[in-house]
Amino acid sequence: MYTQPVLFTVYFVVFLDVTEPLLVEVDQIYHLACPASPIFYKYNPVKTIKTNVIGTLNMLGLAKRVGARILLTSTSEVYGDPLQHPQTEEYWGNVNPIGVRSCYDEGKRVAETLMFDYHRQHGIEIRIARIFNTYGPRMNIDDGRVVSNFIAQAIRGESLTVQAPGTQTRSFCYVSDMVDGLIRLMEGENTGPINIGNPGEFTMMELAETVKELINPDVAVTIVDNTPDDPRQRKPDITKANDLLGWEPKVILRDGLPLMEEDFRQRLAVPKNQFQ
Ligand code: UDP
Ligand code: UDP
Repeated sequence: MYTQPVLFTVYFVVFLDVTEPLLVEVDQIYHLACPASPIFYKYNPVKTIKTNVIGTLNMLGLAKRVGARILLTSTSEVYGDPLQHPQTEEYWGNVNPIGVRSCYDEGKRVAETLMFDYHRQHGIEIRIARIFNTYGPRMNIDDGRVVSNFIAQAIRGESLTVQAPGTQTRSFCYVSDMVDGLIRLMEGENTGPINIGNPGEFTMMELAETVKELINPDVAVTIVDNTPDDPRQRKPDITKANDLLGWEPKVILRDGLPLMEEDFRQRLAVPKNQFQ
Protein backbone atom coordinates (compact mmCIF):
# COMPACT_ATOMS: atom_id res chain seq x y z
CA MET A 1 0.00 0.00 0.00
CA TYR A 2 1.23 3.45 -0.79
CA THR A 3 -0.48 6.74 -1.01
CA GLN A 4 -0.32 8.91 -4.10
CA PRO A 5 -0.33 12.65 -3.97
CA VAL A 6 -3.57 13.99 -5.34
CA LEU A 7 -3.96 17.43 -6.84
CA PHE A 8 -7.36 18.97 -6.28
CA THR A 9 -8.83 21.83 -8.22
CA VAL A 10 -11.28 23.58 -5.98
CA TYR A 11 -13.79 26.04 -7.34
CA PHE A 12 -15.75 28.07 -4.87
CA VAL A 13 -18.31 30.79 -5.06
CA VAL A 14 -18.43 33.64 -2.58
CA PHE A 15 -21.14 36.25 -2.54
CA LEU A 16 -19.66 39.62 -1.84
CA ASP A 17 -19.47 43.19 -2.99
CA VAL A 18 -16.24 43.64 -4.98
CA THR A 19 -16.06 47.26 -3.93
CA GLU A 20 -15.09 45.89 -0.48
CA PRO A 21 -11.62 44.36 0.01
CA LEU A 22 -11.48 40.56 -0.09
CA LEU A 23 -8.94 38.25 1.55
CA VAL A 24 -8.87 34.75 0.01
CA GLU A 25 -6.16 32.46 -1.34
CA VAL A 26 -6.72 31.62 -5.04
CA ASP A 27 -4.78 30.80 -8.22
CA GLN A 28 -7.13 32.36 -10.74
CA ILE A 29 -9.69 35.15 -10.61
CA TYR A 30 -12.50 35.49 -13.17
CA HIS A 31 -13.52 39.10 -12.55
CA LEU A 32 -17.01 39.24 -14.07
CA ALA A 33 -18.65 41.52 -11.53
CA CYS A 34 -20.86 44.34 -12.86
CA PRO A 35 -24.44 44.58 -14.05
CA ALA A 36 -24.34 44.27 -17.86
CA SER A 37 -27.95 45.03 -18.79
CA PRO A 38 -28.37 48.72 -19.67
CA ILE A 39 -31.44 49.11 -17.45
CA PHE A 40 -29.58 47.65 -14.47
CA TYR A 41 -26.28 49.48 -14.94
CA LYS A 42 -28.08 52.78 -15.47
CA TYR A 43 -30.27 52.22 -12.38
CA ASN A 44 -27.39 53.05 -10.01
CA PRO A 45 -24.63 54.50 -12.23
CA VAL A 46 -22.41 55.52 -9.33
CA LYS A 47 -22.42 51.97 -7.99
CA THR A 48 -21.73 50.69 -11.53
CA ILE A 49 -18.61 52.81 -11.92
CA LYS A 50 -17.48 51.94 -8.37
CA THR A 51 -17.81 48.27 -9.27
CA ASN A 52 -15.69 48.73 -12.37
CA VAL A 53 -13.05 50.96 -10.82
CA ILE A 54 -12.82 50.12 -7.08
CA GLY A 55 -13.92 46.52 -7.74
CA THR A 56 -11.21 45.98 -10.36
CA LEU A 57 -8.63 47.67 -8.14
CA ASN A 58 -9.53 45.29 -5.29
CA MET A 59 -9.37 42.21 -7.53
CA LEU A 60 -5.97 43.38 -8.85
CA GLY A 61 -4.75 44.01 -5.31
CA LEU A 62 -5.86 40.48 -4.45
CA ALA A 63 -4.14 39.07 -7.57
CA LYS A 64 -0.97 40.93 -6.60
CA ARG A 65 -0.95 39.69 -3.01
CA VAL A 66 -1.52 36.00 -3.85
CA GLY A 67 0.19 35.88 -7.27
CA ALA A 68 -3.03 34.87 -9.05
CA ARG A 69 -3.78 35.22 -12.74
CA ILE A 70 -6.77 37.51 -13.30
CA LEU A 71 -9.23 37.62 -16.19
CA LEU A 72 -11.46 40.67 -16.69
CA THR A 73 -14.62 40.43 -18.73
CA SER A 74 -14.52 43.75 -20.50
CA THR A 75 -17.08 44.56 -23.13
CA SER A 76 -17.81 45.47 -26.71
CA GLU A 77 -19.17 48.69 -25.17
CA VAL A 78 -15.56 49.94 -24.99
CA TYR A 79 -15.99 50.54 -28.75
CA GLY A 80 -19.00 52.80 -28.00
CA ASP A 81 -21.01 53.65 -31.12
CA PRO A 82 -18.30 52.24 -33.38
CA LEU A 83 -17.16 53.96 -36.54
CA GLN A 84 -15.19 50.85 -37.53
CA HIS A 85 -17.16 47.77 -38.53
CA PRO A 86 -16.63 44.98 -37.61
CA GLN A 87 -14.66 45.93 -34.52
CA THR A 88 -11.06 44.75 -34.14
CA GLU A 89 -9.18 44.94 -30.86
CA GLU A 90 -6.98 47.72 -32.28
CA TYR A 91 -9.95 50.07 -32.63
CA TRP A 92 -9.99 52.68 -29.81
CA GLY A 93 -13.70 53.30 -29.95
CA ASN A 94 -16.15 56.16 -30.15
CA VAL A 95 -17.42 56.64 -26.61
CA ASN A 96 -19.41 59.45 -24.99
CA PRO A 97 -17.61 60.16 -21.67
CA ILE A 98 -20.57 61.92 -20.04
CA GLY A 99 -23.59 59.98 -21.28
CA VAL A 100 -25.97 57.66 -19.43
CA ARG A 101 -24.05 54.59 -20.64
CA SER A 102 -20.66 56.02 -19.60
CA CYS A 103 -20.70 54.46 -16.12
CA TYR A 104 -20.45 51.13 -17.91
CA ASP A 105 -18.46 52.00 -21.08
CA GLU A 106 -15.93 54.26 -19.41
CA GLY A 107 -15.95 52.11 -16.26
CA LYS A 108 -14.84 49.08 -18.29
CA ARG A 109 -12.28 51.21 -20.16
CA VAL A 110 -10.74 52.28 -16.83
CA ALA A 111 -10.87 48.64 -15.67
CA GLU A 112 -8.82 47.67 -18.76
CA THR A 113 -6.37 50.49 -18.00
CA LEU A 114 -5.96 49.29 -14.40
CA MET A 115 -5.36 45.74 -15.64
CA PHE A 116 -2.55 46.88 -17.93
CA ASP A 117 -1.03 49.23 -15.34
CA TYR A 118 -0.88 46.43 -12.74
CA HIS A 119 0.58 44.16 -15.43
CA ARG A 120 3.30 46.66 -16.40
CA GLN A 121 4.01 48.00 -12.91
CA HIS A 122 3.62 44.85 -10.77
CA GLY A 123 4.01 42.01 -13.30
CA ILE A 124 0.48 40.68 -12.65
CA GLU A 125 -0.64 37.99 -15.13
CA ILE A 126 -3.69 39.49 -16.81
CA ARG A 127 -6.26 38.34 -19.39
CA ILE A 128 -8.84 40.69 -20.93
CA ALA A 129 -11.85 39.44 -22.86
CA ARG A 130 -14.07 41.93 -24.65
CA ILE A 131 -17.34 40.08 -24.59
CA PHE A 132 -20.12 40.84 -27.05
CA ASN A 133 -23.85 40.33 -26.51
CA THR A 134 -24.42 36.94 -24.89
CA TYR A 135 -27.62 34.99 -24.24
CA GLY A 136 -28.73 31.62 -22.96
CA PRO A 137 -30.77 29.64 -20.44
CA ARG A 138 -30.92 30.86 -16.82
CA MET A 139 -30.80 34.53 -17.78
CA ASN A 140 -32.94 36.71 -15.55
CA ILE A 141 -36.36 36.78 -17.24
CA ASP A 142 -36.68 40.49 -16.45
CA ASP A 143 -33.06 41.23 -17.33
CA GLY A 144 -34.22 43.85 -19.84
CA ARG A 145 -31.88 42.89 -22.64
CA VAL A 146 -33.23 42.24 -26.06
CA VAL A 147 -33.05 38.44 -26.41
CA SER A 148 -34.57 37.73 -22.98
CA ASN A 149 -37.21 40.43 -23.55
CA PHE A 150 -38.28 39.06 -26.93
CA ILE A 151 -38.37 35.44 -25.77
CA ALA A 152 -40.38 36.27 -22.63
CA GLN A 153 -42.74 38.47 -24.66
CA ALA A 154 -43.26 35.79 -27.33
CA ILE A 155 -43.97 33.12 -24.70
CA ARG A 156 -46.42 35.40 -22.87
CA GLY A 157 -48.15 36.30 -26.14
CA GLU A 158 -47.18 39.98 -25.85
CA SER A 159 -45.91 42.32 -28.60
CA LEU A 160 -42.19 42.24 -29.22
CA THR A 161 -40.82 45.69 -28.34
CA VAL A 162 -38.30 46.72 -30.99
CA GLN A 163 -36.61 49.95 -29.95
CA ALA A 164 -36.37 52.52 -32.75
CA PRO A 165 -35.19 52.45 -35.43
CA GLY A 166 -34.88 48.63 -35.45
CA THR A 167 -32.07 48.75 -38.02
CA GLN A 168 -29.40 48.81 -35.26
CA THR A 169 -27.42 45.57 -35.21
CA ARG A 170 -26.01 43.20 -32.59
CA SER A 171 -24.18 39.87 -32.73
CA PHE A 172 -25.36 37.26 -30.24
CA CYS A 173 -23.15 34.60 -28.66
CA TYR A 174 -24.58 31.52 -26.97
CA VAL A 175 -23.46 31.15 -23.36
CA SER A 176 -21.61 27.81 -23.70
CA ASP A 177 -19.49 29.25 -26.53
CA MET A 178 -18.72 32.27 -24.37
CA VAL A 179 -17.66 30.16 -21.38
CA ASP A 180 -15.43 28.03 -23.63
CA GLY A 181 -13.76 31.20 -24.98
CA LEU A 182 -13.17 32.63 -21.50
CA ILE A 183 -11.59 29.41 -20.20
CA ARG A 184 -9.32 29.19 -23.27
CA LEU A 185 -8.23 32.78 -22.72
CA MET A 186 -7.53 32.19 -19.01
CA GLU A 187 -5.54 29.01 -19.69
CA GLY A 188 -3.66 30.44 -22.70
CA GLU A 189 -0.63 32.69 -22.93
CA ASN A 190 -2.12 35.91 -24.34
CA THR A 191 -3.06 38.92 -22.27
CA GLY A 192 -5.62 40.19 -24.77
CA PRO A 193 -7.71 42.21 -25.11
CA ILE A 194 -9.43 39.60 -27.25
CA ASN A 195 -12.94 39.86 -28.66
CA ILE A 196 -15.16 36.92 -27.69
CA GLY A 197 -18.46 36.98 -29.51
CA ASN A 198 -20.42 35.51 -32.38
CA PRO A 199 -19.93 37.45 -35.64
CA GLY A 200 -23.44 36.56 -36.91
CA GLU A 201 -24.98 40.03 -37.17
CA PHE A 202 -28.72 40.83 -37.00
CA THR A 203 -30.83 43.96 -36.98
CA MET A 204 -33.22 44.11 -34.03
CA MET A 205 -36.09 43.84 -36.50
CA GLU A 206 -34.56 40.63 -37.90
CA LEU A 207 -34.15 39.29 -34.37
CA ALA A 208 -37.82 40.05 -33.62
CA GLU A 209 -38.93 38.30 -36.83
CA THR A 210 -36.79 35.25 -35.99
CA VAL A 211 -38.15 35.00 -32.44
CA LYS A 212 -41.67 35.40 -33.78
CA GLU A 213 -41.18 32.66 -36.38
CA LEU A 214 -39.54 30.21 -33.96
CA ILE A 215 -41.58 30.84 -30.82
CA ASN A 216 -44.94 32.44 -31.51
CA PRO A 217 -46.02 33.54 -35.04
CA ASP A 218 -49.15 35.20 -33.60
CA VAL A 219 -47.41 38.01 -31.71
CA ALA A 220 -47.12 41.55 -33.04
CA VAL A 221 -43.90 43.53 -33.42
CA THR A 222 -44.11 47.09 -32.07
CA ILE A 223 -41.62 49.93 -32.47
CA VAL A 224 -41.03 51.73 -29.16
CA ASP A 225 -38.76 54.62 -28.09
CA ASN A 226 -35.04 53.96 -27.75
CA THR A 227 -32.63 55.18 -25.07
CA PRO A 228 -29.72 57.65 -25.61
CA ASP A 229 -26.40 56.61 -27.14
CA ASP A 230 -27.61 53.21 -28.33
CA PRO A 231 -24.83 51.84 -30.60
CA ARG A 232 -26.01 51.57 -34.19
CA GLN A 233 -23.95 48.55 -35.13
CA ARG A 234 -21.89 45.91 -33.38
CA LYS A 235 -20.07 42.87 -34.70
CA PRO A 236 -16.81 41.35 -33.47
CA ASP A 237 -13.83 40.63 -35.63
CA ILE A 238 -12.76 37.34 -34.01
CA THR A 239 -9.58 36.72 -36.03
CA LYS A 240 -7.47 37.00 -32.85
CA ALA A 241 -9.62 34.58 -30.83
CA ASN A 242 -9.44 32.18 -33.75
CA ASP A 243 -5.68 32.44 -34.26
CA LEU A 244 -4.52 32.75 -30.64
CA LEU A 245 -7.08 30.62 -28.78
CA GLY A 246 -8.27 28.28 -31.54
CA TRP A 247 -11.76 29.48 -30.64
CA GLU A 248 -14.86 30.17 -32.67
CA PRO A 249 -18.52 29.97 -31.68
CA LYS A 250 -20.43 26.80 -32.59
CA VAL A 251 -24.06 27.63 -31.76
CA ILE A 252 -25.90 29.76 -34.33
CA LEU A 253 -28.77 32.01 -33.21
CA ARG A 254 -31.49 29.76 -34.65
CA ASP A 255 -30.19 26.84 -32.56
CA GLY A 256 -29.56 28.83 -29.39
CA LEU A 257 -32.97 30.57 -29.22
CA PRO A 258 -34.99 27.33 -28.81
CA LEU A 259 -32.67 26.21 -25.97
CA MET A 260 -33.36 29.44 -24.17
CA GLU A 261 -37.09 29.20 -24.97
CA GLU A 262 -37.26 25.77 -23.29
CA ASP A 263 -35.77 27.14 -20.08
CA PHE A 264 -37.96 30.29 -20.12
CA ARG A 265 -41.12 28.22 -20.69
CA GLN A 266 -40.34 26.09 -17.67
CA ARG A 267 -39.72 29.08 -15.45
CA LEU A 268 -42.74 31.00 -16.74
CA ALA A 269 -44.83 27.80 -16.57
CA VAL A 270 -46.15 28.30 -20.11
CA PRO A 271 -45.94 25.05 -22.09
CA LYS A 272 -45.44 25.20 -25.86
CA ASN A 273 -48.60 25.76 -27.95
CA GLN A 274 -50.61 27.36 -25.14
CA PHE A 275 -50.98 30.56 -27.20
CA GLN A 276 -50.83 28.99 -30.65
N1 UDP B 1 -6.95 44.17 -1.74
C1 UDP B 1 -7.89 43.17 -1.52
N2 UDP B 1 -7.44 41.92 -1.21
C2 UDP B 1 -6.13 41.61 -1.10
C3 UDP B 1 -5.18 42.64 -1.35
C4 UDP B 1 -5.62 43.91 -1.66
O1 UDP B 1 -9.09 43.39 -1.61
O2 UDP B 1 -5.80 40.46 -0.83
C5 UDP B 1 -7.41 45.52 -2.09
C6 UDP B 1 -6.90 46.55 -1.12
O3 UDP B 1 -7.94 46.84 -0.22
C7 UDP B 1 -6.56 47.75 -1.98
C8 UDP B 1 -6.61 47.25 -3.41
O4 UDP B 1 -6.86 45.86 -3.34
O5 UDP B 1 -7.52 48.76 -1.84
C9 UDP B 1 -5.34 47.50 -4.15
O6 UDP B 1 -4.30 46.84 -3.50
P1 UDP B 1 -2.78 47.23 -3.73
O7 UDP B 1 -1.97 46.34 -2.83
O8 UDP B 1 -2.46 47.19 -5.16
O9 UDP B 1 -2.73 48.73 -3.32
P2 UDP B 1 -2.53 49.44 -1.91
O10 UDP B 1 -3.23 48.60 -0.88
O11 UDP B 1 -1.06 49.48 -1.72
O12 UDP B 1 -3.14 50.77 -2.12
N1 UDP C 1 -33.67 46.47 -27.69
C1 UDP C 1 -34.91 46.32 -28.29
N2 UDP C 1 -35.95 45.90 -27.51
C2 UDP C 1 -35.82 45.60 -26.19
C3 UDP C 1 -34.55 45.74 -25.59
C4 UDP C 1 -33.50 46.18 -26.38
O1 UDP C 1 -35.10 46.58 -29.48
O2 UDP C 1 -36.83 45.21 -25.55
C5 UDP C 1 -32.55 46.90 -28.55
C6 UDP C 1 -31.70 48.04 -27.99
O3 UDP C 1 -32.21 49.27 -28.47
C7 UDP C 1 -30.33 47.74 -28.59
C8 UDP C 1 -30.33 46.23 -28.75
O4 UDP C 1 -31.67 45.79 -28.63
O5 UDP C 1 -30.21 48.33 -29.87
C9 UDP C 1 -29.50 45.53 -27.70
O6 UDP C 1 -29.88 45.99 -26.44
P1 UDP C 1 -29.53 45.23 -25.11
O7 UDP C 1 -30.19 45.99 -24.00
O8 UDP C 1 -29.86 43.79 -25.23
O9 UDP C 1 -27.95 45.30 -24.96
P2 UDP C 1 -26.83 46.34 -25.43
O10 UDP C 1 -26.23 45.71 -26.64
O11 UDP C 1 -27.46 47.66 -25.74
O12 UDP C 1 -25.92 46.39 -24.29
